[in-house]
Amino acid sequence: MKILDGKALAAVVQSEIAEKVAQLKNKRNITPCLAAILVGNDPASQIYVANKEKACQKNGIAGKLFRLPAETTTVELLQLIEQLNADTAVHGILVQLPLPKQINEKEILDAVRPEKDVDAFHPENVGLLSQGRPRFLPCTPYGVQQLLVRNGIETRGKHVVVIGRSDIVGKPMGLILLQKGVGGDATVTTVHSRTENLAGLTRQADILIVAIGKAKFLTADMVKPGAVVVDVGINRQPDGKICGDVNFDSVKDIAGAITPVPGGVGPLTITMLMLNTLTAAELTA
Ligand code: NAD
Repeated sequence: MKILDGKALAAVVQSEIAEKVAQLKNKRNITPCLAAILVGNDPASQIYVANKEKACQKNGIAGKLFRLPAETTTVELLQLIEQLNADTAVHGILVQLPLPKQINEKEILDAVRPEKDVDAFHPENVGLLSQGRPRFLPCTPYGVQQLLVRNGIETRGKHVVVIGRSDIVGKPMGLILLQKGVGGDATVTTVHSRTENLAGLTRQADILIVAIGKAKFLTADMVKPGAVVVDVGINRQPDGKICGDVNFDSVKDIAGAITPVPGGVGPLTITMLMLNTLTAAELTA
C-alpha cells in the first residue's frame, strides 16, 4: 500500500510555481496578485485565508486581504468586487465561503470577472470546463488530478467512482476526469446521497474519490482490493482532531494507494490556487 503524500507534492509544485513567478517578474515585470475577501469571523475561514496568505508569500505572489464585517450587505460586497475587477494590478479574486446568510452567494460569485475567477466557480468557467477547454480548473479537484498524475496513477480507461456531487468538488471532479488526455479519459460514475446500492458501485472502482463531509464514512467493505482511494473530506472530531471521509485504519489494508488526512488533498488545494493565480497573471495581455 502506497501513501499518497500531498504535502510533499505540494512543496514540489510550489517550487515550480515560485520559479515561474520569478520568470514573469523578470520578463514582463508582472507580479501575480491574489485578492482575498473575508466577510465575518468564521473560525475555519480565518485559518483558510491565513494559509492562503502564507502560500502567496512563499511563492512570490502578492496577497491582498480585504476583511469585511459580518453585517456587510450584498451591495457593499458587490462594490468591492467591481473595484477589484477593474484593478489591473489584481489578477485573482477569491471570496472565502461560506458568506453570512444575508448575502446572496450566487450573485457575488457571478460578479467576479471570469478572467480573475481563480476558484473557477463562475458559470463561464464551469461551462468552459464542461466543454473541455478550461481556463482554470477548480482547485480541489485539480489538486486530486495532479496527485494522481504525479504519482503515476493512470486514469485513462479506469473506472473512477466519485462520491459526492457538490459544485465545488464532486461535479467538477467528474468533468476533469472526463477530459481527453493525461489525467483524464476515465470512465466516471458519480454517486451521492440518493444513490441506490452505493457500496455495490464503490466496489467496482479502480479509483475512489470521496467528498461527502461525513467522518470515516468509507469502510474497507466498500473498496475493491488494490483500489486507489483519495479522501477529500475534512471533518473535525469531538477531540478537535481532523479526519477525512475515509476510515483510514480500515481501508489502508485493502487499498493499493491512499491519501492521509491531513497531508493529502488539502495542501494541494492551496497549491492549485497559487497556480491559477499565476495562470491568470500570465493570461493578461
Ligand atoms: P457538500 O456538503 O457540498 O457535498 C457533499 C456531497 O456528498 C453531496 O453531493 C451529497 O449528495 C453527498 N453525500 C452526503 N452524504 C452522503 C452519503 N451518505 N452517501 C453518498 N453521498 C453522500 O460538501 P463538499 O463541499 O463537496 O465537501 C465535501 C468534503 O470535502 C467536506 O468534508 C469538505 O470539508 C471537504 N473539502 C475539502 C477540501 C480540501 O481542500 N481538501 C476542499 C473542499 C471541501
